[in-house]
Amino acid sequence: RPTVAIIGRPNVGKSTLFNRLVGKRLALVDDQPGVTRDRREGDADLLGVPFRVIDTAGYEDEDPATLPGRMRVQTEAAVREADVALFMIDARAGITPLDEEVARWLRSSGTPIVLLANKAEGRAAEPGIHEAMALGLGDPVPFSAEHGEGIADLFGALLPYIDREDKEAEADEDSPNAPLKLAVVGRPNAGKSTLINRLIGQDRLITGPEAGITRDSIAIEWLWEDFEGQMRPVRLIDTAGMRKRAKVEEKLEKLSVADTLRSIDFAEVVVLLLDATRGLEVQDLKIADKVLQEGRALVIALNKWDVAENASSLFNGVKGALDEGLAQVKGVPLLTVSATTGKGLDTLIKVAFETREAWSRRITTGQLNRWFERAIETNPPPAPGGRRIKPRYVTQAKTRPPSFILFGTRVDLLPASYERYLVNSMRKEFGFGAVPVRMTMRPSK
Ligand code: GDP
Repeated sequence: RPTVAIIGRPNVGKSTLFNRLVGKRLALVDDQPGVTRDRREGDADLLGVPFRVIDTAGYEDEDPATLPGRMRVQTEAAVREADVALFMIDARAGITPLDEEVARWLRSSGTPIVLLANKAEGRAAEPGIHEAMALGLGDPVPFSAEHGEGIADLFGALLPYIDREDKEAEADEDSPNAPLKLAVVGRPNAGKSTLINRLIGQDRLITGPEAGITRDSIAIEWLWEDFEGQMRPVRLIDTAGMRKRAKVEEKLEKLSVADTLRSIDFAEVVVLLLDATRGLEVQDLKIADKVLQEGRALVIALNKWDVAENASSLFNGVKGALDEGLAQVKGVPLLTVSATTGKGLDTLIKVAFETREAWSRRITTGQLNRWFERAIETNPPPAPGGRRIKPRYVTQAKTRPPSFILFGTRVDLLPASYERYLVNSMRKEFGFGAVPVRMTMRPSK
C-alpha cells in the first residue's frame, strides 16, 4: 500500500493532519527503540483512496541544540519508506532556517515531495505562502489542518503518488496484448450460442475456470485477426446455458438472468445481441441499462440480419428506441451481424476492441484542465437560489470505466442537467463514445 510520510519541524501541525487523515481508526504507535520510537503510523483514506501514513512527530520537546540531528535521522528513515513526502510548513510563521534545511534533505532523498503550507486560512498566511515558493519545491498547497480546508487540493496533489497500485493493475490490463474480456448477452434465442461458435470456430482454447466465475462457466480464449493482420487475444465467457445449447424448456428467464449478471461481472465489453426478427424489447433495454450501471462498455448487435425485413426502417427504429431508452448514454454502437453467415462479426470485434480502449483511457491533468476551463466558460454553472457554484478543477480518479472527481465550492448543488452537460462535453472531447463516464462531486468547505 502506498505510503505518505508527513515531514516538518515541530508545531507546524503534523499531528493534527495525521489525526485528520487517520480519523477514528486506531493509529499504531511504533514502540521500537531508536529512530522510530515516537513515530506514529496509521491507515488513512482520502476520498476513497487508501494509503499508509507516517507521522514523524515525537521530537516536539527536544532540546533545540540536538533537534536538527534527531529530526534528520527520523525524517530520512521515514522518507526512505515513503512513496511521497508531505513537507509541512507553517504559513503564519514563515520559512525558518530549519525548514530550509529540511528542504535540502528532502531534495537529496529523491522521493517526490508535496509542499503543504499549513495554517493558510486568512491574510496572515500570505507572506508565508509566498516565501515557501522560494524553497524550490513547487507551489505550496494552501491548507488548514485545523479547519479542514484544502483537503481537496491536498488530495489532488497526492493522488498521482498514492494511486499507484491501481495504475499498475491498469497498466497490465491495458496492454494491447491483454486479452479482451468479452461477454455476449441477450434474450433466449437471440443467437448467442451460434455467434460464439462462429466466432471461435475450431480455434478454441479453453482456459478453464477463472476467479470469480462459477464452475458452470468457462472462459474461452482465441485469437482474432484484426484488419491489419495482427493476432489479438479475445477471452470470452461461455456459460453453461449457452455451451450445452440448452433445450428450450431449460432456457428459463431465471437461468438467463443469472448468466447475464455473471457475464457482465466478468467482462470489459459486453455485446448485447438482439434478434432482428423481433426488434428491440423491454427486456433488452433492461439488460443494456444493467451493463451501463455496472460500468461496463456496451456494444449492441442486431443479429439475424440475413433474414431481416425492411432493413433500413428496422435499423432506424431500433436505433431511435435505444437512444430514447438509454437516455444517460446516447450513441451506443449498433451493428448488424449474422451469426450464421458470419457477416459483420469482424467489425463487431473491432468495435469491441476500440470500445475497450476508450473505456480504459486516461486523460492527463493538463488536457482535463484545458477542456474544463473551456467547458465552464461556454456554459457557466447556474446559481440556484442566488448561491454561486464554483467548480474549480477535475481529476481522473480511475479508468475502466473513466471516473472523474469535480472539486469546487458547492458543486454538490449542481443540477443533474449540468452534470450531464459536463459528462457529454467530456465524451466528445476525449472520444469516450458511449462508454459509461462517471463524475463525483466533491464540494470544498
Ligand atoms: P441463444 O439462445 O441466444 O444461444 O440462441 P441460439 O444460438 O441457440 O439461436 C437460436 C436460433 O436462432 C437457432 O435456431 C439459430 O440457428 C438461429 N440463429 C442464430 N443466429 C442466426 C442468424 O444470424 N441468422 C439466422 N437466420 N438464424 C440465426
